Amino acid sequence: MLRRTKIIATLGPATDRDGELDRMVEAGLDVARINFSHGSIDDHRARIEAVRGAADRHKRAVGIMADLQGPKIRVDRFVDDKIMLEVGAKFTIDGDIDPSAGDQSQVGCSYKELPRDLKVDDVLMLDDGNIILTVESIRGSAINTIVKVGGELSNNKGVNKRGGGLTAATLTEKDHADIRTAAELGVDYVAVSFVRNAVDMHVARELTHAAGGNHIHLVSKVERAEAIENMEEVIDASDVVMIARGDLGIEIGNAELPAVQKRLIAETRKRNAIAITATQMMQSMVESSQPTRAEVLDVANAVLDGTDCVMLSAESAVGNHPSLVIESLDRICRGAERHPEVMVSSHRLEQHFDNSEEATAMAAMYTANHFDVAAIVALTESGSTTKWMSRINSELPIYAVTRHERTHRRVAMYRGVYPISFNPEIETKVSVERQVMSELRRSGAINPGEKIILTKGDLDGVEGGTNTMKVLTCE
Ligand code: PEP
Repeated sequence: MLRRTKIIATLGPATDRDGELDRMVEAGLDVARINFSHGSIDDHRARIEAVRGAADRHKRAVGIMADLQGPKIRVDRFVDDKIMLEVGAKFTIDGDIDPSAGDQSQVGCSYKELPRDLKVDDVLMLDDGNIILTVESIRGSAINTIVKVGGELSNNKGVNKRGGGLTAATLTEKDHADIRTAAELGVDYVAVSFVRNAVDMHVARELTHAAGGNHIHLVSKVERAEAIENMEEVIDASDVVMIARGDLGIEIGNAELPAVQKRLIAETRKRNAIAITATQMMQSMVESSQPTRAEVLDVANAVLDGTDCVMLSAESAVGNHPSLVIESLDRICRGAERHPEVMVSSHRLEQHFDNSEEATAMAAMYTANHFDVAAIVALTESGSTTKWMSRINSELPIYAVTRHERTHRRVAMYRGVYPISFNPEIETKVSVERQVMSELRRSGAINPGEKIILTKGDLDGVEGGTNTMKVLTCE
């Protein structure tokens, strides 16, 4: 059985090691994430070329996702690189002080608007929530706080506000430049950090198109409380939704995460977008050679929730053995996918479809799930038909048959969808359908005597024309 849930891994120094990317692709890497918060354009280019090389060597379609830094708010630096904050101590964050002159009593901050976004009694979470401060007073640029949870605070650690409400614009100047770089490097996906609403995604899409990246699909990273409040419009403005549990957990509190994850995945699937579950899925494997049981259960739960992808961050970027983590994820996903619960199809019997392509895709899934067929096969240009199909649970593979390598890499994120290369011969009397069947047999996707459901449009090479569904038997 093919694994249905897809694996995304962040690249970094650990994946630059000799032969590591090849091992990761062999182990089942589907999409490589390039984190634009770290590294230069040359680093990104070199890593993208390395992924393409490894994918070619293993004859696999591996997508590339560029993840923008966004307006991550950070404290500046300390004279001694770090300080120890004791509970009850007074501590000031002041955007006007020298950025390298932080000390035991105060530190600078890159985000100058912070005082305007805060009021007395607001709670600030520093360093992923390891340090908690409450605002006592605000005097000009100085935010005076009391330490509620203390500990070590070092240079450039992140700052979040409990409950959200920071007004920093979603797309920074750096993000604008990085979108142009991502388009130039030919990535398949761009992930937009700290999205608040649909407008943020529309702006990102305009910038991506203006940079010549019309083919790029956009991922909204849900990590601000506002994105949860505006969940439906954010999903509708996105191709993919990432549940970025790191920053989101800090803003809304970790205890809220399980229910929010379930609601986000369900709503994302319902609204025909793709879901990624991210952050600390296999955290202990940064060092350890096997995951904890809690991590196994976390990954399996995301699979049972219906996520399309599970994502690795530090586990692959700076971990001891990135390919081993992927092997482990692969086993956990396959195990969870055997659970009858994820094979129960939830057909959209009450829903009215907006276009003939979606209607045809739904008819195909209904027939496939209620008939004796071996696979669902879509002749597709952009992969959209297979995206709609993959919103319906099934144990059958969905093959995206297309000549476009870009579509192969795009469907690398879609649950249960697998690309097959196919370029029909024109100068022949053999029908396209028979040619497809031969290709499927040759690739081992189906065997003689098995039935498939095939969808296609009337015009070859035209996006969005799917209007036909056929049941065919392999000869
Ligand atoms: C997160 O916060 O969970 C996340 C995925 O974002 P990043 O790793 O870019 O901080």
